[in-house]
Amino acid sequence: SDINNWFKSRVNLTPGDIAIIDSCTNNSWTYEQLYRRSEQLADYFVSKGIKKGDRVALLAPNHISYFDFLFASMKIGAIFVPLNWRLADAELDYIIKDCEPKIIGIDLSFKDKIDEISTSIDTTVIDTNNYISNLQSRISGINAEIKETDPLAIIYTGGTTGKPKGVVLSNRSILWNALNTITSWGLSNEDTTLTCLPMFHTGGLNVLSLPILLVGGKVVISNFDAEKAVNDLITYKCTVVLFVPTMYHMIIQTEVFQKSNFPDMKVFVSGGAPCPHKIYRAFSEKGIPFREGYGLTEAGPNNFYIDPEDTFVKLGSVGKPMLFNEIKIITDNGVEADSDVVGELLLRGNHSFEFYWNKPIETNETIIDGWVHTGDLAKKDKDGYVYIVGRKKDMIITGGENVYPLEVEHWLESHKDIDEASVIGLPDDKWGEIVAAFIVLKNEMNESELESYCKKKLTRYKVPKVFYVLDELPKTHVGKINKKSLKEGITLRKD
Ligand code: ATP
Repeated sequence: SDINNWFKSRVNLTPGDIAIIDSCTNNSWTYEQLYRRSEQLADYFVSKGIKKGDRVALLAPNHISYFDFLFASMKIGAIFVPLNWRLADAELDYIIKDCEPKIIGIDLSFKDKIDEISTSIDTTVIDTNNYISNLQSRISGINAEIKETDPLAIIYTGGTTGKPKGVVLSNRSILWNALNTITSWGLSNEDTTLTCLPMFHTGGLNVLSLPILLVGGKVVISNFDAEKAVNDLITYKCTVVLFVPTMYHMIIQTEVFQKSNFPDMKVFVSGGAPCPHKIYRAFSEKGIPFREGYGLTEAGPNNFYIDPEDTFVKLGSVGKPMLFNEIKIITDNGVEADSDVVGELLLRGNHSFEFYWNKPIETNETIIDGWVHTGDLAKKDKDGYVYIVGRKKDMIITGGENVYPLEVEHWLESHKDIDEASVIGLPDDKWGEIVAAFIVLKNEMNESELESYCKKKLTRYKVPKVFYVLDELPKTHVGKINKKSLKEGITLRKD
């Protein structure tokens, strides 16, 4: 396939350069070693009867095996399924039954988790810390006929909005996301990234790790701890990194962040969820390049670029479309929205996904005429900069008026005594829905103080009718605020 050829030429160009460093174990692998590992694993897969189209899954913390599995799959046309190890057994069971892997690579710490599940399916379980030393490479010159649209990976979405859906990414989507990111974001073999976002998620795998590998740079892998992450950025002279806002929230509070100026960093990127403006501020005050990215598993995920210098001018914008992809914002009647008018964001390009695994109905609802309907609301300003307004499903209609929770959240979070805020709509007999705010406080505030602060800036119908003060907000497995569980929590309390 094209991506396999691309990877091969990359290895030929810089065989002895370091490709991966595991900062937890201090192991590192050159491009040639990485290539050999994937060849050995591909041989092993073939010896176990894995054929084109078969699924090979992986249940492990961030680890070199993610690349082994992906690159081995690429050679033989298998489909790589990284599994979310933070899921409860029943959810994992659902995903494994949905994708039916023939092989599951596991980190032994997850053995109990998998024992329960794998008895019910016909699958071989291998230990990710051991397989390479046990393999004999026969360099069989495996050459499966692979088309660019053949599936290469299934990534299950977070399930923030329902049951996890298996997003099928083809060889083409993964290669094009990488190429487009390299060109649009200006990455080169001088770049080093730190990957501590989970690699079972598109954020850990596709946003920077694969683009950096395909351009010949270095990927430092780790598992998230705020202080360690900042130290790793400094130690390995990282130049570009992605964290979700929850991680930034923790990072900016560390002493080592406060003391450092990150001279090697070209840019810090936030993505996966709306970024609170106080995080922007922590970077702008120190003069450190920062930008907000937006993406979704179904669309590659990268689609936008903003110059770090514009980040603080166009506050809250995710930028303009990258090269080689199209965007469109449409109103409810399907026409393109004028500037500053909110509508649904649609994306089209070579990095879009092919289909949802086993879900033809959802596929047809999401991809229409090649356009991925993101389910997110956005608007464009007169200069063409795009602002994400929030998820369509999260929009609140109260007494016939539309309220975009993000606007209320940003205002609440701008108060010095408020640490985090999340706003949802709750059913109400009189108003249809009412605006409800969930708040984590830094310092004491009472309901009337919260209300009068909101009234300073927000139109009356946008001011929350109820405030719930919590010790912490529920988060999903990748650290996004879980609005579904906030809603369910309230419904349960009412019952
Ligand atoms: P599910 O689709 O099952 O609910 P998920 O939302 O976790 O799971 P992802 O592909 O991880 O799936 O996330 C994509 C979504 O994250 C986008 O559709 C958008 O709602 C949100 N998102 C990502 N980046 C941003 C951003 N910068 N601002 C606002 N929202 C963002």
